[in-house]
Amino acid sequence: MPPDTLECAVCELHAEAVFRVEGMDCNEEVVILERRLKPLPGLEAVSADLIGQRLHVKYDAARLTTAAIVDAVGHTGMRMWLEHEEPAGGGADVAWRWRLMVLSGAAIAAGIALTAAGRGTPAAAAFVAAAVIGGAFPARRALTAIRSRTLDINTLMIVAVAGALFLGEWLEAASVVFLFAVAQWLEVRTLERARQAIRALIDLSPREAIVRSGGLEHVMPVDRVAIGDEIVVRPGDKVPLDGVIIAGHGDVNEAPLTGESLPVDKGPGQEVFAGTINGHGALDVRVTRLVRDTRLARVIHLVETAQATRAPVQSFVDRFARIYTPAVLVLAVAIAAVPPLAGADDPAAWFYRALVLLVISCPCALVISTPVSIVAALSAAAKNGVLIKGGAHLERLADVRVVAFDKTGTLTKGDVRVTAVLPRPGYADRDLLRYAAAVESRSDHPIAHAVLAHAHASGVAVPSSADARLIPGLGAEGVVDGVGVLVGDERLLRGRGIDVSDAGAVARARDGGESVVVVAVDGIYAGALALADRPRDTAREALGLLREQGIRKIVMLTGDHERTAARVAAELRVDEYHAQLLPEEKYALVRQLRGGHGAVLMVGDGINDAPALAAADVGIAMGAAGSDAALESADVALMSDELLRVPYAIRLARATLRNVRVNVAISLALKAAFLIMAVTGAATLWMAVLADTGASVIVVANALRLLRAR
Ligand code: ADP
Ligand code: MG
Repeated sequence: MPPDTLECAVCELHAEAVFRVEGMDCNEEVVILERRLKPLPGLEAVSADLIGQRLHVKYDAARLTTAAIVDAVGHTGMRMWLEHEEPAGGGADVAWRWRLMVLSGAAIAAGIALTAAGRGTPAAAAFVAAAVIGGAFPARRALTAIRSRTLDINTLMIVAVAGALFLGEWLEAASVVFLFAVAQWLEVRTLERARQAIRALIDLSPREAIVRSGGLEHVMPVDRVAIGDEIVVRPGDKVPLDGVIIAGHGDVNEAPLTGESLPVDKGPGQEVFAGTINGHGALDVRVTRLVRDTRLARVIHLVETAQATRAPVQSFVDRFARIYTPAVLVLAVAIAAVPPLAGADDPAAWFYRALVLLVISCPCALVISTPVSIVAALSAAAKNGVLIKGGAHLERLADVRVVAFDKTGTLTKGDVRVTAVLPRPGYADRDLLRYAAAVESRSDHPIAHAVLAHAHASGVAVPSSADARLIPGLGAEGVVDGVGVLVGDERLLRGRGIDVSDAGAVARARDGGESVVVVAVDGIYAGALALADRPRDTAREALGLLREQGIRKIVMLTGDHERTAARVAAELRVDEYHAQLLPEEKYALVRQLRGGHGAVLMVGDGINDAPALAAADVGIAMGAAGSDAALESADVALMSDELLRVPYAIRLARATLRNVRVNVAISLALKAAFLIMAVTGAATLWMAVLADTGASVIVVANALRLLRAR
C-alpha cells in the first residue's frame, strides 16, 4: 500500500506503510528487523504482526522512502515488499526449503544404506553431506542473526549440529538437520495456511468491475475505477466498490460486511458496499469511493491494525521468553562444563546433554501461542460483523461482569415514529410539526429523523432554521421565521423557565413506553410529540444469554423520561435503570459501576453516549456499517444492529482466553518435560527437534479452532 496517511506538518511528512515480510516467523526475526530499521533516519515506529507476516512502519516521508526501508531489510536475508506489491517468486523460500530437505533426506538414506553395507567412511561422508545440504538454509539465517548480534533458533541449531559432528555422531548430526528442515517447513506451511484461512475470512472483494461508459461495458481492475464511474453489478455478483444505486432493485446480502445474512432490499438512491453479494436483480451503481477507501477496505485495515497491537497476555509471554532463552543457554554451558570439571567420567555425554538444551532453548511455540489465538479470534469476530480493535479489548471483554446499555437506538430499534401530535389548546398540529422539524433538520438523533419523516408524510413544508444547535442529551434549538424554537426533553424547557403543562395524553403515552418531546415556540410551550420506539426483537433474548453467561448486572442508561424508561426497563427486565441522564451523567454512572463489580461493558449507538462508551472498560458501538464515527471510535464496533452479537463477543473472548491458556500450557509443559529429560540425559537431539515443532503445530492447530466457532 502506498503511504496512506500523508499529513503535512511544517517540516515532517508523517507516513505509514505496511510491508509483507517473508521469513518473519518468530520473535528473533522481529528483533533483527528492528535492529536494522531503528537506526534509519526518519523512522518513527515499527510494529510487527507475526501471524500476518506484516510490518507496520511509521516514518517521516521527507527523510525516508519505502524503497530505502525495503533495502535495509534486504540485508537480513528476509524479503520484504509493500503489501499488495507481491513480487514474482514470492514463496520461493518455501520451495527452496522443500528441495534442500528432500536432498538432505536422500543423502541420509544413502548413508544408512552404506552403513548397512559395512562401509563406514563413505557412510560418514554421506551423513556429513546431508548435514551440510540441510544446514544451508539455517546457516544463512544464523549468519544474519549473528551479524545483528542476536541468537536465533538457526544459530542454536547450527551450534548443536556442529557439536554433534565434533562428537563424531554423524547420523545424529544429519538427522537433526533433516528433522529441523522438516520441522521448519511444516511450521512455515502451517502458519501460511493459517494466514490464508484468516485472510480469506475478511478479504472478499472482487478484483474487477464492469464499467459502463459511452454505452459500452468493459471489465476493469477495481483500482482503476474512479469516483463517479458507473458500474454494472449482475445478479449473483459481488459488489466490487461502494456506491449508490442509480437503477435497478436487488436483495443484497451484506453478510460479508455485517455478518447479517438476511438480504436487504435495495433500490435507487440507496448505498451498496464492496464485498456484499447482489441477489436477483441487476444494479447500476455510481461509484462513491475508491477501492482503498471502501467500507470493507477500512474494516480490513482496522482488523489488520488490531492484529498488530499487543494484548497483555502476550507481553507476559514475551517477558517470559526473554528470560527463558538466556537461562537455558546458561544452563547448557554449565552442564557442558561443570560435571567434567568436577571429574565426571563421561564429558562427551554431558556435552551432548548441553546440545539438547540448546535445541529446546528456542521459545518459538510459546511466543506464537498467544498471538495466533488472538488473531484467529479477531478474524472470526470480523467475519460475524464484530470488529474488535485489538487483543487487549478481547481480554477485557472476557472479564466483563456488568453490562450497561443505552436505551434509544440500542435496546430499542432507533426506528422511531411519531405516534401523536399533541399541541396545546389553540395551537395547530401543522405549526407544531413545522417548527419542530425545522429545528431538527440538522440532527442525527433518531427522534429528529422521526419528526422530519412525520412532517414530510403530513405534507408540511419544513422551513430552514437559522442557528440550529444540538443540546446533547436534551434536545435541539434554533430560530425559525425569526422566533426561537426549542425541542426536546421537559428539562430543557424548564431550564429556560418555560412552563410545561403536562396533558393527560402525554402521561398516557409515557406509561405506554413511548417517548415524548416537548416544543416551545418564542418562549412559550406549544405542545408535545409522542414517539414510539419498540425494543429490538432480540433484546430479551440477548439479555437472557448475558445472564446465562454469568453477567451479574444489566443496567439501562437513558436520557429519556423516567416513566418511559420504567416501562421499557420492566419489559426487558433489566436489573437497574437510570433515566433523564445527560451524556456526562451517563459517563459518571459508568465510572461508578466500574468501582463496584468488575469490568463494565457499555453498549451504545454513539449518539449522546460516546463519553460513556469511552469510560467503560470496553465500549461497544452499534450500527457501525452505517456510521463512520461509530466504526472508528469504539473499542468494539458491531457492523449490524444485532444485539445478539454482544453475548457472542463475550463468549468468543472467553473462548479465546481459554484457548490461549491451553496453548501456553502445552508449550510450557513440553518445554519443562524436555528440560528435565535433557538434563537427566533421557532426551536425544532429534526428539527435542520434534517436540519443538510438534508444539508449534499443535498450538497453531488449536488456535485455528476459533475460526470455526459460531
Ligand atoms: P438515550 O439515552 O435513551 O439514547 P438520548 O440521551 O439520546 O437518549 O436523549 C435523551 C432525551 O433527550 C430524549 O429522550 C429526548 O427527550 C431528548 N433529545 C435528545 N436529542 C434530541 C433531539 N435531537 N430532538 C429532540 N429531543 C432530543
Ligand atoms: Mg442513544
